[in-house]
Amino acid sequence: MMQTFQFGPWKIAASEIFYISKLSLGLVNYKPIVPGRMCTVVYVLVLPRRVVPRFADLTSEEVTDLFHSAHTIAAVVEKEYKGESLTITLQDGPQAGQTVPHVHVHLIPRRAGDWANNDDIYGEIDQKEKELAKELKRKTAAVDNEERKPRTPEDMASEAAALRKLFAQAENIWSA
Ligand code: AMP
Repeated sequence: MMQTFQFGPWKIAASEIFYISKLSLGLVNYKPIVPGRMCTVVYVLVLPRRVVPRFADLTSEEVTDLFHSAHTIAAVVEKEYKGESLTITLQDGPQAGQTVPHVHVHLIPRRAGDWANNDDIYGEIDQKEKELAKELKRKTAAVDNEERKPRTPEDMASEAAALRKLFAQAENIWSA
């Protein structure tokens, strides 16, 4: 059995993780965002291995490792997803739009014209996260009558496996 990790309340299979350092993880996203008139934007999350809801509660060693990891991953992901820039965000607390109570950095590849107005991306992230929070709540209540499929575990695993090869890993968490 492959190891699992926590992202807030959610169990994450190692197959959906593409990067591991001493204190951080890189995770492919469950639900990509879709700008109005372009294709889906797939993006990744970087988080501390320890479940810590708020940024201020990280140790300085975790902060250093998290941002070092985000820095390493950012360059690779931008190139890999043929971005021309990156939106890097951290929503710290529910009033800032955080839906998963576990610190995480969003690394979102950007291209010219992906959003008609550049800053519309923030409204899009916020809206999608609210929908996702509702959806995940329904799933945990075992009343999943939601037909809309975000991404399958296989799809996420295949993306993570492709990305994994591009990084030096601190541990091998992927062998069964
Ligand atoms: P935030 O609203 O800033 O807390 O962002 C939550 C992010 O976590 C969103 O981008 C979701 O798509 C993503 N997400 C939620 N649950 C999972 C999961 N089980 N696996 C991967 N990504 C997830």
